[in-house]
Formats: sequence, structure tokens, C-alpha cells
Amino acid sequence: MKSFNIPDYYRSTIVSPLKELRRKRDKLKRDFTPTLLDFGPVQVLLARHFGFCYGVENAIEIAYKAISENPDKRIFLLSEMIHNPEVNGDLLSRGVRFLMDTAGRQLVPWAELTQDDIVIIPAFGTTLETQQKLAEVGLDVERYNTTCPFVEKVWNKASQIGHKAYTVVVHGKPTHEETRATFSHSKEAAPTVVVKDMAEAQRLARYITGDVPKEQFFVEFKGQYSEGFDPEQDLQRIGVVNQTTMLASDTQGIADYLKQVMIEQYNLLPHEVERRFANTRDTLCYATNDNQDATYALLTHTADLAIVAGGYNSSNTSHIVELCEEKLPTYFIESEQKILSQTLIRHFNLHQKEEVVTESYLPSHEPVTILLTCGASCPDAVVEGILLKLVSFYPGSRSLEDVMIDIQQTYNA
Ligand code: SF4
Repeated sequence: MKSFNIPDYYRSTIVSPLKELRRKRDKLKRDFTPTLLDFGPVQVLLARHFGFCYGVENAIEIAYKAISENPDKRIFLLSEMIHNPEVNGDLLSRGVRFLMDTAGRQLVPWAELTQDDIVIIPAFGTTLETQQKLAEVGLDVERYNTTCPFVEKVWNKASQIGHKAYTVVVHGKPTHEETRATFSHSKEAAPTVVVKDMAEAQRLARYITGDVPKEQFFVEFKGQYSEGFDPEQDLQRIGVVNQTTMLASDTQGIADYLKQVMIEQYNLLPHEVERRFANTRDTLCYATNDNQDATYALLTHTADLAIVAGGYNSSNTSHIVELCEEKLPTYFIESEQKILSQTLIRHFNLHQKEEVVTESYLPSHEPVTILLTCGASCPDAVVEGILLKLVSFYPGSRSLEDVMIDIQQTYNA
């Protein structure tokens, strides 16, 4: 895969070489077992796949290029470039400004932009409406467009389905930048509706079966359907695409469920199913799949706790947290700074949507086993910081050099 030129301070002298070692040994990515870092009193199991993906590295390379190529110009990011506070914070410190917040609220009025400005499109892509606004100002929207090719692939898939006269059901978070962009592109080719989870898919199904009056659809799905959507007409042939960072099992569950609803509603024989339900695989990206599969593999190991690093608004990271939470105490943190001490950790509670402080998060027994991973927008340097901080609480630990020699021997054997 292409390598990108990103600032060294996002890399790690421990984690990045480890990943490279595993990659070289397993180029076809068949081995999802975690890497054991055995420090003695603390054992860290590091997921096989985590951290910066293709789309994130591509976006970072382009953003820093935009800064270095335009020292005298105002540089704007449409919104957070990726959902990571370290990266966004660094860009802001270099004078970059956000035009919108992550919910799409305007921070800098369009009227303030001039054609001399530079605007960077984030990895999630953007809506056609925003592209149009930027073009009207006279800005070249393609010059620093960091839209991930795996997001564009979803747009293409939606368009293909649309051209075959299916309505597109997007499984995604309705307010997430990527889903808003996908919705915007999809509606050009097909009636489109967004469902955020199985509960919403089940509510949508009641309009397929005609169990509730169609007028109710416009209330229930307000802001999530394309203009002119007619639930009676537009739910007779459907296909599902998804935000690239959803939980694979959730999307599969929703697609299977809606397919079954169509089969029952229209009494379809197996060879007739495609008349009503487009035969698509999910549109998750490779990084989401790898990271989720690596998390499942991580969770087959017995451990005391899991630490997942990433931005709190990062969709792919949140899903990794959800998977870990089902199995063991899990702490979702932005960086090692959230590890306040050996006994206190400040972490994000996904359900309450706020940071909380937990005491005694490390067990008193030794050795303690910790699962460690992060999302696709989290730098290796952050994972290194967390690793070193945890080990620092165990003074009798083996040296990092010895641990790394063990690992090299294991994977070079
Ligand atoms: S998570 Fe996937 S879709 Fe998103 S930027 Fe990374 S590779 Fe692209």
C-alpha cells in the first residue's frame, strides 16, 4: 500500500516498527493474533491492526502540504479533518481554521471566504451543496481534497444501486460528516433514507409493509430522507450501503433484516429476491474491517482491562470500545494524559457521552494483563505514550529493549 509523508511526531519508535514487523511477516493479513509485550508484572496485548489508515495518512499528508505550500494564505478546514484531537489541535496551532463544527454548524460565514483562501476537504468528504458553495466563491475544491477513496467507493455504490432503480438505505449516523456527504451524493441518483441502527430499520420496515400511515414517515425520519421521498413508492426496491466505519455485524444484521422483510412482503422465491433487494456487500472500508477483526481476536485473550485510544467523536473507535465493553472493563481515552495516576483514569463514557473518572482501574494483582488498541485516526505516538505510562507504574518491569528483542525473535523466527 502507498506510504505517505506525515510528520514524524505522529509515528512511534516502538509501535510503528512493531506494526511493520508484523506486516512483513503477514502481508496477506491472515494472522489477527495480538502482539504480546511481556514486561513481567504488566503484560500488554497490542491489537494486530490499529491506528492510522490509508485515508487518514492521505488526509494528513495533503493538509500539511497545503500549509507548507501556502505560507501567506488563510487556510480553512471544512470541519475536523479526522476525528482526532491531537491532529486537529496541531493543525489549529499552525493557523488552520475550521469553517464548520462536526455537526455542520457554520463557524466562519461563507461570505468571509475569498478566492485567495485555501479550503481543505476532510477525509469524510463533503456534501454537493458545500462543494457548490465553495465553487461559487471561486475556490478550487479539488486542489486539497482529502476525501478518502473508500468513502468515494460508497458514493459510487449508492449511485450504481440508484441507477438500477433501487432506493438507497444508508446505515450510518445521520449527523456524521461522512453520512451527510454520502446522503448528499446518493440522493442525486436515487431516493435515499438514512437509518442509524436496527431500531430505525425496524421502524422503516413498517412503511415497507404499510403497517403505519405514510404521513408518519415524514415525522419519524425528519432530516433523514431525500426531497420528494414517497414511502409508498420508494420502498418497493431497496439496497443498503453504509458509513465506512460502522460495526460490521450491525450493518449485516440490518441488511439481513430488511431483505427478509422484502421476501415476506412480496412472497419472493430465492431467485426473485434481487428484484426487490439489491445484492450488495457492506461498504465498510478495509481499515474498519481489519480493526474490528483484530479486536475480536484481542478479546479471545483473558485480560484485566482494555484501553482504547482515540477521539471521542470517532465512529470507528466507538465501535471498538463497544466490542471491548461487552467483555471486560474498558477505558476510552484520548491520550496518556487521561491516565492521571496508577489509581485514577479519566475516560469517556460512551453511554453518558461525558468523561468520568474511575478509581482503582488497575487490579492489585500481578501480572496485570491489558488489552491495548486504538481507532483509525489515532497516531502511533499516542499508543506509545499510553504504553509507556502504564509500564511506568510497575518499577520491576523488564526493560523495553528486552521486550522488543523478544518480539523480534518471535516474529523473525
Ligand atoms: S477509516 Fe476507512 S474510510 Fe475512513 S479514512 Fe480510514 S480508510 Fe478511509
